[in-house]
Formats: sequence, C-alpha cells, structure tokens
Amino acid sequence: MQQLRGRDIWLSDDGKCDSPGYNAKYCSYTLMDSKTQQIVNTELVQVTDTTSSVAMEKMGFKKCVDKIEGNNIKVSLVATDRHAGIRKLIRTDYPHITHNFDVWHFVKSLRKKLLAKAKKKDCDELAPWIQAICNHLWWCCQHCGQDAKTLREMWTSILKHIVNVHSWVDGEKFHQCAHPPISEEETRLKCWLKAGSSTHLALQEVVLKKTVLKDMEHLVHSCHTGALEVFHKSPEILSKEARIYIPAYASSYASGCTGPQYEY
Ligand SMILES: [Zn+2]
Repeated sequence: MQQLRGRDIWLSDDGKCDSPGYNAKYCSYTLMDSKTQQIVNTELVQVTDTTSSVAMEKMGFKKCVDKIEGNNIKVSLVATDRHAGIRKLIRTDYPHITHNFDVWHFVKSLRKKLLAKAKKKDCDELAPWIQAICNHLWWCCQHCGQDAKTLREMWTSILKHIVNVHSWVDGEKFHQCAHPPISEEETRLKCWLKAGSSTHLALQEVVLKKTVLKDMEHLVHSCHTGALEVFHKSPEILSKEARIYIPAYASSYASGCTGPQYEY
C-alpha cells in the first residue's frame, strides 16, 4: 500500500464466501489495483462479525476500502458485481467513489438470460448468436467513450445488426455498425433473424430490459475482475494468512479494463 500513497486509483473488487447463500461462515474480500493488477488489500470477515452471511460481503468491502483510504490512498473508482448491498453502501457512505459494475459479471448474467430465451419455443435461432451478442457488449463498453447514452445506443444496435440492418437514422450517437462491409457471400451464409420474429422479440426483451439499460451507466469504464475470480479459486484465500499468497498468485493473470474482441 505504501507505493500507492498519494495516488488516485481505480480498484476492482471481489468477495468469496466459503459456501454459497445463507450457510456461509467466512467471506474473503479483495481489492485489486486495476492499473498494476496487484492486490491492494484482502479482508476476511466471519459471519459472527455481522448480522447475516449476506452482510459479510458488505462488511468486507467497508473494511477494505476504509483501510486503503486510511493509508492516504485516494480511491476514485471501484468496479464490483451487482451486489445490492454494496451498491447502496457506495451510494450512501462513499459518494466520492465512482461505482462501475464488472463487465465480466454483467456479461455472465446476460449469457444466462440469452440461453434461457434460446430454449423457448421457436427461439432456437438465437443460440448461434449468443457468443457474438456477448462480445458485442464487451466491445460497446470499450468503445463508448465513457458515455452511457452512447453505450446504450451501441448496445441496442444489435437488434438491427441481427436482422441484417447495418445503418439507421434514429438515435443520436451511433448510426451504423462498426464492422467492415459484409460481402454478399457472408450475407448469404449468416443466419440473420427475421425482424419481428419470435426469436427477435425474445432478444429484444433481454436487450431492452429496463434494468439492463439503466445499469449501463455503471459499465462505461469497461472494468472487469476476471483475474480476481481466478485468484479466488485458490483454496488458500480463505486462510488467515491469505495476504502472503496474493501478489505472486494474482500477477500471472491478465485483468484491467479490457475484454474479448468483438466478432459477429
Ligand atoms: Zn452490422
């Protein structure tokens, strides 16, 4: 932490409990510097320290951030998953910190929703597009210029691309797909959806969902915690001595504010 004193840092967080749901007894909470990909702090919380197992992650966040800020390090942004308790905590107790959602978690949840839709009657044509739609979201987060309105327009443009429409006049910020022109051969081979078909409408429900569009304001910095997820698979993390494993274990995994390439 000494090296970070006086610096303005962006952090990625992750909490990991020893068992899922309400039976957890311990939660390890970690914050990583997005720029250097080094673990800045880890705190271990016991359920007996809190009112419930669900509250452990919130307490872990508070302990971690308070210790970092107590060391005269300015935290300007934190990327977390969509844990409701932490969302509220940042809003009320840390208004000086910009809160972003971790794109990795967001895309994971999006993929689940798309897979569920693809299993519905007459919606199986969605399945071959799921990876491309997830890649599209990564790409949008990286190229939106940290602007939520641009991000939303980029994201919803998938509803046009998927029906073989690649330029349009509506919207304010984004009027055509960013991919190169599609050849006649490619056009013939792609499994375009039909506008207004049941598959297209099912996709529309996911893409235009109110909470998805609203949460996009928390995706504009394109941060993700993939490295922390890997780090937390280490069984040692739940030991009291966790800190000694951290730098060496985490440094071999890529993280930060990047994501997979966008491919259709
Ligand atoms: Zn397109």
